[in-house]
Amino acid sequence: MSASPRQKTSAAIFGLAVVVLAYQNCGEPFKAGDFSSKILPSGVVDARGRETPTPSTSPVDTKPEIANWDAAFPKLVKANDCMTNPEYNLCLPWRDPLTTYGQRFTPGYTVASATDAQDSAVLIYGMKVPTTAIGNQNYTIDVSGTTITKVAAANNSWKYNVKGDTSRKVAQLSMFYVVNYQRTYMTERTGTFYYARARAGATLRLKPYIATFQGQPFENAMFSQTDGSLTFGFWRQGSDTADFSLDGSVIAHEAGHGNFHYALPAASRLALDPNLKRQNGQVIPYCLTINGCFSAMHEGIADIHSFILYPEAPPSIAPYVMNNAEGFDMRDPAANLEANVTSTSLYNGSGGGEIHYMGSAYAMIWYQVWKKAKDAGAEKDIEKIFSEHLADLSPSDTFITAFDVIETNANALVPAKSAMILTDFRAAYTKVGLTLP
Ligand SMILES: [Zn+2]
Repeated sequence: MSASPRQKTSAAIFGLAVVVLAYQNCGEPFKAGDFSSKILPSGVVDARGRETPTPSTSPVDTKPEIANWDAAFPKLVKANDCMTNPEYNLCLPWRDPLTTYGQRFTPGYTVASATDAQDSAVLIYGMKVPTTAIGNQNYTIDVSGTTITKVAAANNSWKYNVKGDTSRKVAQLSMFYVVNYQRTYMTERTGTFYYARARAGATLRLKPYIATFQGQPFENAMFSQTDGSLTFGFWRQGSDTADFSLDGSVIAHEAGHGNFHYALPAASRLALDPNLKRQNGQVIPYCLTINGCFSAMHEGIADIHSFILYPEAPPSIAPYVMNNAEGFDMRDPAANLEANVTSTSLYNGSGGGEIHYMGSAYAMIWYQVWKKAKDAGAEKDIEKIFSEHLADLSPSDTFITAFDVIETNANALVPAKSAMILTDFRAAYTKVGLTLP
């Protein structure tokens, strides 16, 4: 058989050496290329054969609860009239503008290019929150070092349009909403969220698109191992830009790095990954073998946080930023499974084991087991095992040795179901082309 369109696209994307959504703040930041060729006009079928992404259906149509920034966060409530309905004082997209809108934008929906029609089509999920200063015991926004203004309640309202919003108010509120919602959701589902617990009073930093990092434009999103902060830059789309902080899948990914980092024993957090390649004496972000490495698990684990937080959405990363349903190619475990992607193909397709693509193999393993459990209404068991296993991984682990950690946690946490769950994990490893001992 000839190569499928997906395979051709994947090769093209791999060729661009996409290294985005980092968790280390050392070394060279990723320098993005011009991705304008990825911005397709409406109605064009993408590489996976989808014309449009699935519109969001998640939030329920009820009146909003009054949500305190410090308290548990309910889901956003869908209200097509959010921007004019006094019932709400905050209007946001659900997960991201593209998913909310239900189709890609022509051109991409950005501060510079957003139209009134796009704003009104996207900002349709509402909340009622106190109009006190934004910030709580877990997260604050820090705009120092930027030219944007910290968001503040005006006229007892948090409603802002994206169009012309040079201070990125919607982006700040979107980010603040997602990280707080994630903290609530993960704590409720798994009993803990290590990132918030460890980072009480942490600074959640927002960098606007004009920001630079180590002298370079910051075209990335990042969790800092140094100070625990989250930074969201932008993604260039030709001459236009898209905010990473408007894409909930990216926010969940970066905070997922934070959750894993703080789940680990302190000695493991900054330890060197012994299964990374070296070049000219320097460690490079490529796993030694198809069995993966700790750094790749960091990426896969971050992606898993996103599909757990948005169970109704396609599990892709950065659909809004890339302005198509599949987001970053090869980071959507469901699409990868359909296409029979394996750890070997990810290794070979990424120039020899690049950690974000190798991380997809680990995400694919978990996605299979989680999705099967979800279809049976039992995904909470898997989420609990996932959360607890984070604390037991170590920098010398590979995907293969991680199975032992999964096994130990499954047996301890859900003993009555662990045999079945472990059978599912074994099958999932096999599907991804990995051989367990
Ligand atoms: Zn990452």
